[in-house]
Amino acid sequence: MKVDWLIVGAGFTGSVLAERIASQLGQKVLLVDQRNHVGGNAYDYYDEQGVLVHQYGPHIFHANARYLWDYLAQFTQWRSYYHQVLGVVDGQQVPIPFNFNSLYALFPAHYAAKLEQQLLENYGFNLKVPILKLRESASGDLKFLADYIYEKVFLGYTLKQWELSPEDLGAAVTARVPIYLSRDNRYFQDTYQGLPLHGYTVLFQNMLKHPNIHILLNTRYQSIMQEVQYKRMLFTGPIDEFFEHMHGELPYRSLKFDLRYEEREQIQTVGTVNYPNEYNFTRITEFKHLTGQRHHGSTWVAEYPQAYVRGENDPYYPIPQEKYKALYKKYQQEAEKIQEKVLFAGRLGDYQYYNMDQTVARALAIFDKQVAV
Ligand code: FAD
Ligand code: UDP
Repeated sequence: MKVDWLIVGAGFTGSVLAERIASQLGQKVLLVDQRNHVGGNAYDYYDEQGVLVHQYGPHIFHANARYLWDYLAQFTQWRSYYHQVLGVVDGQQVPIPFNFNSLYALFPAHYAAKLEQQLLENYGFNLKVPILKLRESASGDLKFLADYIYEKVFLGYTLKQWELSPEDLGAAVTARVPIYLSRDNRYFQDTYQGLPLHGYTVLFQNMLKHPNIHILLNTRYQSIMQEVQYKRMLFTGPIDEFFEHMHGELPYRSLKFDLRYEEREQIQTVGTVNYPNEYNFTRITEFKHLTGQRHHGSTWVAEYPQAYVRGENDPYYPIPQEKYKALYKKYQQEAEKIQEKVLFAGRLGDYQYYNMDQTVARALAIFDKQVAV
């Protein structure tokens, strides 16, 4: 087979670039994925009972940049959705990110009011303060509060998710869920938030409809290299795998997803409930909240963090630690040597803790700067 581009991975990164190259440049693309579906980790499907579920954990699209929302709107209508998360703290379910509503739910009113006042004086209304920063800068009552939130919300969850404490990870990890000095119970504050009205998989199918795109599933790219002639390649799998781990393996975190259907209309009051301190899983998500589907039953998923073992499970999260950044840099240098022929991108190709909007932004930027030139 002869193509202009061989693209490895049919997730957001690979699919956006396939779509751009096919529709804007009129070039032929072979899009290969080892899984039996397109969509990468955003893949969704109807389970046996007819509930729309996300195979690889809950996916909510959120972005501040309008061009990303509009670009994807060519392939889907959007369902507006604001994700809400409750965390179980001292036997109560309180809003996460921790905010003034969480404060008043957990503390006697007069003490909550005092803490609220001090937070407002020291930081300001509507500000987001990462937990590590709050712990560092607070004194007196606020130091007590910072330690309380750290222990009850962050420590147990982070140990489960990463087998590391918050200080041992890049500060950006826990800063994704900052203390929010407001009454806003939404998990994200981005301008654009939602899910594809008919699901992610339909979005991908629409995106990849172009006759210049040929899709090959259930295929590891290594197995077809003899049969394919291509001018350039985009690789969105693990960058260390591409280079056959010549500098050593990059580590990833994996997850086991336990999906259960119940003959109940609703399992929990919001999309996700986090369990920082109880159980071996981190959170439970009930899909119907996200998708808006009506059904007499409901399916939920519990996420059990695991170490990634090559060949046994999937690499879901790069591990944001300085020493691995340095190891990744060695692979990046290898990538630079062959950049005329092969580009790397995506959560695994760039070894970056990207959200979906960031992968789309990265793919569109690569198209403008390195492909359509
Ligand atoms: P992927 O989707 O991982 O696609 C890479 C593809 O490459 C895979 O399908 C893989 O099978 C294929 N591949 C790898 N190696 C090979 C090979 N050798 N041969 C052939 N194919 C190969 N982001 C959000 O914005 N909002 C959320 O709510 C959100 N929730 C998430 C929840 C979880 C549990 C996880 C793990 C991630 C979440 N994300 C979320 C992040 C989101 O999944 C990613 O940003 C996005 O899917 C990454 O897209 P990608 O194309 O870079 O990679
Ligand atoms: N986190 C936490 N407690 C929570 C929620 C998040 O400690 O209740 C920390 C934890 O380290 C987690 C990180 O914040 O890995 C980022 O959380 P997010 O929900 O963004 O993770 P993702 O959805 O990417 O798995």
